[in-house]
Amino acid sequence: MSTAEPRVIETRRHQMFPTLSPGEIERLRRFGEVRSYRAGDYLARTGEVAPGFSIVLSGQVEIRPRDELTERPPIVVHGPGSFMGELAQLAGNPALVDALALAEVEAIVIPAAQLRSLLIEEAELGERIMRALILRRVGLLETGAGGPILVGRAANPDVLRLEGFLGRNGHPHQRLDPDVDPSAHCLLERFQVDPAQLPIVLCPNGRLLHNPTEAELARCIGLLRPIDPERVYDVAIVGAGPAGLAAAVYAASEGLSVLVLDCRAFGGQAGASARIENYLGFPTGISGMALMARAYNQAQKFGADMRIPDEAVRFECALGEENGAGFQLRLSSEERVRTRSVVIASGARYRRPAVEKLAEFEGSSVHYWASPLEQRLCTGQEVALVGGGNSAGQAVVYLAGAVRKVWLLVRGPSLGASMSRYLVDRIAALPNVEVLTRTEVVGLEGKDGELEAVRWRRSDTGQEARRPVRHLFLFTGAEPNTAWLSQDDVALDAHGFVRTGAEVGPERRALETSRPGVFAIGDVRGGSVKRVASAVGEGAQVVAAIHGFLADVGARAAPAPPPETA
Ligand SMILES: Cc1cc2nc3c(=O)[nH]c(=O)nc-3n(C[C@H](O)[C@H](O)[C@H](O)COP(=O)(O)OP(=O)(O)OC[C@H]3O[C@@H](n4cnc5c(N)ncnc54)[C@H](O)[C@@H]3O)c2cc1C
Repeated sequence: MSTAEPRVIETRRHQMFPTLSPGEIERLRRFGEVRSYRAGDYLARTGEVAPGFSIVLSGQVEIRPRDELTERPPIVVHGPGSFMGELAQLAGNPALVDALALAEVEAIVIPAAQLRSLLIEEAELGERIMRALILRRVGLLETGAGGPILVGRAANPDVLRLEGFLGRNGHPHQRLDPDVDPSAHCLLERFQVDPAQLPIVLCPNGRLLHNPTEAELARCIGLLRPIDPERVYDVAIVGAGPAGLAAAVYAASEGLSVLVLDCRAFGGQAGASARIENYLGFPTGISGMALMARAYNQAQKFGADMRIPDEAVRFECALGEENGAGFQLRLSSEERVRTRSVVIASGARYRRPAVEKLAEFEGSSVHYWASPLEQRLCTGQEVALVGGGNSAGQAVVYLAGAVRKVWLLVRGPSLGASMSRYLVDRIAALPNVEVLTRTEVVGLEGKDGELEAVRWRRSDTGQEARRPVRHLFLFTGAEPNTAWLSQDDVALDAHGFVRTGAEVGPERRALETSRPGVFAIGDVRGGSVKRVASAVGEGAQVVAAIHGFLADVGARAAPAPPPETA
């Protein structure tokens, strides 16, 4: 975010830090217990799981980000009637700030599970509290306070990978570039790190990680906790894109126990969309990340367990197991999830065209998303983008606002054949976009993972061109994320998409695969409409089918599904 833009703490302070009335506090007493703290005690410490969300009854609590590099001023001092907490307390994750009692403090401490009950049972108060928790996280994201510190060059593929992971998961962080930031050197000296070993990550709990995987980083900052191998969930959802998150919200809100896995980040493809303009209810459009972050918080509010990043690598039937755990998912972390039903919502990913040396430039110069991170990397430059679908069109419009020139390469004879009219018209009105039809990329040039030029060729004339392009964006169609499944698990179509419903058997429920109790929704499902709205719709619809399955097998006393007219 540009420094010129006002921060959320300046514009929405009253919503971030509301004061509860004595009557409201009385109503909330039943969710927690009163605890006393002496001056100098911590109600929460950065990097450690706090006992809960706290409502201050008396005394004062200072909220201060802990920073290895500079002394940061307190964010706020809570007095009687105000409450301490942000989204970490909702999920039961480690705190991102220190909360220090300045004087003797008495507070109602509400653990994460009870906080979720409060948000649901106390609708109006819950809405105010939820808004405050979200805005406080936005405030931390704006300053990077409370999260890990990454030290490495901005264009380094591992820095991009780690920053992308933290950004996509809505986790605050700071990046220090050793080329421009003197404080990076202080850290390198303090921890005796050779600059050749970058990137490093300094976590809020004081641990130093050398170029960690996303899972190592997530574990260190408390985002990824172990799965209880004995627990049997009503439903395990593979994929936290719009389909998986919708299924999680509806299933959890209807009383099912839910686990959601995603190997990357919440939001799926939609989370990478710069602007979604055709989702019902958002006439001015909404960024995919904003829409998906709301869904993610909503699913957590209803008590869905999130495991991100964690990948389902194998599906197993465990029929006959006690507690009705008909299925087991094996994860890349070598853990297992036991569940009574499974929802496959693993979506699709963009195809990699067969261009020589493509892998060499991926992660640094070749991109499959156009998020603010990528936009920043190529500001003021010339870029090329391949693809003729709506996602390509959106990315062009987004990038054109920041780059000098976009070359849009389309294999077909026109854009109109595959892109919505509104995007075609918008692109036509952009002076810095040039559309090249019947054109394909034929060569990439560069060294050390940095692209220097792209060559393309017209298929009708054979004419070739070479441009000094350092960033290439590929939006060239999708293939299903079903490598973790085999035909023995569930029936797949010729392209690898999961087959469902009447297609696999007359007795199948809607969205049920060839295996009873296993469902598929969203982009991964054969014949689905590849849109956010349809993925969300299927996520809602599948929950009725899960209730039906669970009731049939008597696995649990399934609550009645909502009436169809509701
Ligand atoms: C850049 C872009 C812009 C778009 N813009 C629009 C738009 O404006 N309007 C619109 O309607 N649609 C748009 N789309 C399409 C829309 O985003 C998709 O149709 C939608 O996201 C599909 O949702 P999904 O949940 O089925 O799958 P996905 O969004 O693909 O999510 C699947 C998730 O599953 C995870 N996963 C995969 N395999 C595993 C595994 N083995 N274990 C654990 N997790 C796994 C993935 O990491 C991913 O997060 C756009 C797509 C892109 C890429």
